[in-house]
Amino acid sequence: MDIALVGIGKIAVDQHVPAIADSPDWTLAATVSRRGTVDGVAAYTDLGAMLEAHPEVRVVSLCLPPVPRFDYARQAIAAGRHVMLEKPPGATLAECHALAALAAEQRVCLFATWHSRAADMVPAAKAWLADKTLRRLQITWKENVRQWHPGQDWVFDPGGLGVFDPGINALSILTEILPVPVHLTRARLMFPENRHTPIAASCTFHHPGGAEVGMELDWLEPGAPAWRIEAETEEGTMVLDKGGAEMTVNGTPVARPEGALGEYPTLYAQMARLVKTGGTDMDLSPLRHVADAFMLGERITVEGFEW
Ligand code: NAP
Repeated sequence: MDIALVGIGKIAVDQHVPAIADSPDWTLAATVSRRGTVDGVAAYTDLGAMLEAHPEVRVVSLCLPPVPRFDYARQAIAAGRHVMLEKPPGATLAECHALAALAAEQRVCLFATWHSRAADMVPAAKAWLADKTLRRLQITWKENVRQWHPGQDWVFDPGGLGVFDPGINALSILTEILPVPVHLTRARLMFPENRHTPIAASCTFHHPGGAEVGMELDWLEPGAPAWRIEAETEEGTMVLDKGGAEMTVNGTPVARPEGALGEYPTLYAQMARLVKTGGTDMDLSPLRHVADAFMLGERITVEGFEW
C-alpha cells in the first residue's frame, strides 16, 4: 500500500523511514516537508500538492511536532486519506476529538500511535500485572534533553509538552499495563525561567486499590537515560526497563517474545491491520494525564535553560 510521510525530521529519519522500508505492507511513495527529503522518493513542500499528485497514496503518516500537525491531519482526512499520528496525537484534547469526528465523517481510519506501547515487553508486563495486587508503582523517566532533542526549541514552546514529551511515553505504557485506571492528584512542574514548558516534573496518582503511584520526570539527567517502571505487588516485583524493551520479575529477566518486531515496525503493522478493518484507534488517556498535570500542577520556577 502506498504511504506518504509528512515532516521529515529526527523521528521520521530515525524510525519511520526504516520501518516502512522493511515492511511488507508499505511503499513510501512521497514525502512532504519544507526542507527534509528521502533519497529516491518524490518530495513535496506542500501537502495539498502531494495529495493532488498522488491519488494512490491511501495513508498519510504525520511525523511533525504536535502544534503544526493538526492542520495537516485535517487536510489529509478531508482529502479522504487514512491518517497515522505521531505521539502526542494533538496539542490539545479538543483538537484530537475534532480529528476523530472528522475521520468518522469521512469514513477514513485514524491511528493515534503510542510508540512506547508498542515496545516488545509491554504485552508481557500487562499480562503479568493483570492478576496481581499492586502496592506501589514508580515511573522514573530521566534523560538528557540536549542528547535526545538537540536544538528542538518547539519542545519548550507552548504545546511542546516539555519533559512530558518523553513523559507521555511512560504514561502510554502505564495506561496500557494497569488493569484499572488511575488519575492524577498532584503535580509539581519545574519551569525554566526562560521557557514555556517544564523541564522536570513530579506526579502522584490515585489508584482505586490504594496503591502508591508516582512519576518522576527529569530532562537534565547527565548520565545514561532511565526509562523505567517498577511495580511492587503482593506477589512480587516487576520492572519494565529501557522504555519497555526489557522486563524482570523479582530480578529475573523475562524473555523477549518470539517474533517481536520492535516499536515502529509494530506500529506500521498495526496501521496495515486498521486499514483492513476500518475505524479509529485513538486512546487519549496518556494525553489526558498530561493535561491534568498542567491543570493541577504547582508551578516552580527553576534556572533558565539554554542548549
Ligand atoms: P523535529 O525533528 O523537530 O520535527 C520534525 C519535522 O517536522 C521537522 O524536521 C520539520 O521538517 C517539520 N516541522 C517542524 N515544525 C514545523 C512547523 N511548524 N510546520 C511544519 N513543519 C514543521 O521533531 P521530531 O523529533 O522528529 O518529533 C516529531 C514528533 O515525533 C513529535 O511529536 C515527537 O514527540 C515525536 N517523537 C519524537 C522522537 C524523538 O526521539 N525525537 C521519538 C518518538 C516520537 P521541515 O523543516 O522539513 O518542514
